[in-house]
Amino acid sequence: MKRISVVFCLTAFLVTGCGKKENVKGSRDIFAMDTYMNLQIYGEAHDEALEKAETEILRLEKLLSVTDKESETYKLNASDGSPTEVDDDVSALIRYGIDMGSKTEGSLDITVYPVLREWGFTTGEYNIPADSRINELLKDVDYSKIILDENAVTLPVGAEVDFGAVAKGFTSDRIMEIFKENGVSSAIISLGGNVQTMGRKADGSLWRVAVVDPFDTDKTLGILETADKAVITSGNYERYFTGDDGRNYCHIIDPSTGRPAENGLVSVTIIGESGLKCDALSTAFFVMGRDRAEEFWRSDEDFEMILVESDGNIVITDGIQGSFENLSGLDMEVIAHES
Ligand code: ADP
Ligand code: MG
Repeated sequence: MKRISVVFCLTAFLVTGCGKKENVKGSRDIFAMDTYMNLQIYGEAHDEALEKAETEILRLEKLLSVTDKESETYKLNASDGSPTEVDDDVSALIRYGIDMGSKTEGSLDITVYPVLREWGFTTGEYNIPADSRINELLKDVDYSKIILDENAVTLPVGAEVDFGAVAKGFTSDRIMEIFKENGVSSAIISLGGNVQTMGRKADGSLWRVAVVDPFDTDKTLGILETADKAVITSGNYERYFTGDDGRNYCHIIDPSTGRPAENGLVSVTIIGESGLKCDALSTAFFVMGRDRAEEFWRSDEDFEMILVESDGNIVITDGIQGSFENLSGLDMEVIAHES
């Protein structure tokens, strides 16, 4: 029998500050998309907003789950090369996945799923596949071969998609839309440690979001003060297994090798307005490594980031220099846009 330990961890947690829980006007805990979610509304009470948000989370889960045999994603993956009509949200995510696949030069690839499954992520039957098996499966990994015509999706025979890298960011954006439509102006949500905030706290102060120390997940790397932003982390400690060889294998696959990504980073946190974009980039940058992440950031002024390198160096972008407090004792480098 193989001895395999699996670790699931929350990425970031919320620091509500000074225990001012009395300001929370509505809170809901939900287990969905394989993760714990917590929604908190401040200011006015908004039971209806929470109710609608929960209904939407469950609807999206039903569409996007890669393991639920009733889900659209499952049916699409079983379509064997024939065009399949999908829901607007599924087609939007596929369109986004193709676009981000191209912008990240394939580091984000929503068709990496057959490889991920072979390693046992999603089934729990972890193992280290033979190189020949990985290479065989990699032949069908290519986001650019997906054909999308309005809502009709055609996957090449052998290709399968998975929205694990983007589903939570997509969902947190949607929750924010629902909150807004229902008159909420102050809220913080955490979908398995991926945080998104709306407005400021009821007392007008900024939200304080704790980022986990990837070297010791019981500790806080630092606190980020923020408003109206998503704070989304991908880390090698989030979900991994320890192989017979004693090494840890994490659930983010480098599509260029078919193996868990090891490009010098242990965690990537992206801060920006769109949860979807932050989620996509946190996964992609984990694969791309520091230099390519930095290059991407320089060409796109729309987000900030906190990278933690395997050798214990923190790298942050200058836009959050004054709002991220490093509590870890690790060295921190600030990178700036060239002026
Ligand atoms: P988490 O879900 O832990 O917050 P991520 O957002 O980084 O983490 O997503 C990881 C998930 O994305 C994996 O479980 C898998 O479903 C999927 N995935 C893994 N590697 C890739 C990749 N290179 N491109 C696209 N999706 C990936
Ligand atoms: Mg992601």
